[in-house]
Amino acid sequence: MDVRAQIASVFHLDKCIGCHTCSVACKNLWTDRRGAEYMWWNNVETKPGTGYPTLWEDQQQYRGGWELHNGRLRLRATGKIRGLTNIFFNPTLPELDDYYEPWSYRYGDLFDAPQGDVQPTARPISLVTGRPMDIESGPNWDDDLGGSPVYAANDPNLAGLNEEERRSLFQLQRLHMFYIPRICNHCLNPGCVAACPSGAMYKRGEDGIVLVNQEKCRGWRFCVSGCPYKKVYYNWETGKSEKCLLCYPRQEDGFAPACFHSCVGRIRYLGLLLYDASRVEEVASAPEEMLVRLQRDLILDPFSPEVIEGARDNGIHDRWIEAAQGSPVYRLVKEWELALPLHAEFRTLPTLFYVPPLLPIMGMLGEDGYHLEAEELFDAVEQARVPIRYLTSLFGAGDQKVVTRALLKLAAVRFHRRAATVGDLRAGVAEKMLEQAACSPTEAEAIFRLTSLATADERHRVPPYQGEAIVEETADPHTRRGDAGFGGRLPPRRGF
Ligand code: SF4
Ligand code: SF4
Repeated sequence: MDVRAQIASVFHLDKCIGCHTCSVACKNLWTDRRGAEYMWWNNVETKPGTGYPTLWEDQQQYRGGWELHNGRLRLRATGKIRGLTNIFFNPTLPELDDYYEPWSYRYGDLFDAPQGDVQPTARPISLVTGRPMDIESGPNWDDDLGGSPVYAANDPNLAGLNEEERRSLFQLQRLHMFYIPRICNHCLNPGCVAACPSGAMYKRGEDGIVLVNQEKCRGWRFCVSGCPYKKVYYNWETGKSEKCLLCYPRQEDGFAPACFHSCVGRIRYLGLLLYDASRVEEVASAPEEMLVRLQRDLILDPFSPEVIEGARDNGIHDRWIEAAQGSPVYRLVKEWELALPLHAEFRTLPTLFYVPPLLPIMGMLGEDGYHLEAEELFDAVEQARVPIRYLTSLFGAGDQKVVTRALLKLAAVRFHRRAATVGDLRAGVAEKMLEQAACSPTEAEAIFRLTSLATADERHRVPPYQGEAIVEETADPHTRRGDAGFGGRLPPRRGF
């Protein structure tokens, strides 16, 4: 056993209201500069939809992530030979049109326009050419268009649905949508790191955050095609790649990343996981439908004496082990099995997990109180407005049972609380549901507390970094926030 520490996250999709505050917080902090205009390290997509960049989930087109070849893992897009042949022309990169042409507005016209009969307007100006442009797409162009024939109908996750399921998805009375906020998943088996020919991308030893060394990067952009989530971006101004850094400078000072901190829906959880690095390759090469369960197995119990000893042997500080024991991510992913990785079939072992949205109309209020639409909880989940197979395509990698199990538990907790607070369920219904979902009343209360009432400190358990531990001897770490950051940066150096 090779115990390592990983900062991991959970996003609870039932709570996301699609306000994009997270995206704006990230934009203002990290990508509000030349060359990064089109980058959204955090973006929020509407599902069903095509996302940003367009159709990023379609690996026939982008060839990101890993595949099994003769039982062994290999990158889909590149490798020693294939990488060399594509080094000056990489056909699987998204183009500007797949993202969008970034723009601003000529605000000066509002003040400087000559007097006239019509109100002056601020015309959109391309940030690429500097010329006026007609806006035809944007980073969240399909926002809230869950039922649209252009965006929703082209969602790659609909491929596995049968005709009837597809039809029902677009019937007006069943129309639904939900949001998926996305950041880099800081994967355990990152395709971006493996694809980089310059060795510029790396996974930090102490916390598993995946970063780009700006001084080593030569702008080959293999990381962009290697990442199946398209969460590495090329900066045309510096000639280097960039990506979400999980706000490590903030974390080193004890703060949650900006998108977590600013999240209006309080959907985001951050915490430490301990995992067995010696099994990463074995798990990433497993049959597709086993990937979600095996990734869960990879996460170690931070209370086990054997794991604690292994962590100490690997130099993990006792305060970090304590942080792993109090991690909300551990509870949501491993203990309660509510949170699932997005597209585990890309085999990068993402460490951002999602609590799937509970979309069914579960019941209705009649004259004799609230009662279920379906007789059994299993039926109610199966008859959800969004076909379970659609959610399985996103979060189950073909294993429908892991998704159903999470939804059953979520539904059971909801009814358990309804019985406690509103009290209009028929006697015994809530208890039966908890039993069906294999969830005890104590666990249901704990899930309710963490998902509904948790304070920021309970949601974001940032482990104590050494930098913070050092400064707290002499100063308040909060007053030393400016100490961290990008550090020295050199201009691009091209030797060809
Ligand atoms: Fe790399 Fe993409 Fe995984 Fe982030 S999501 S670590 S960029 S492969
Ligand atoms: Fe969703 Fe939170 Fe982002 Fe708003 S800030 S879109 S609630 S993740």
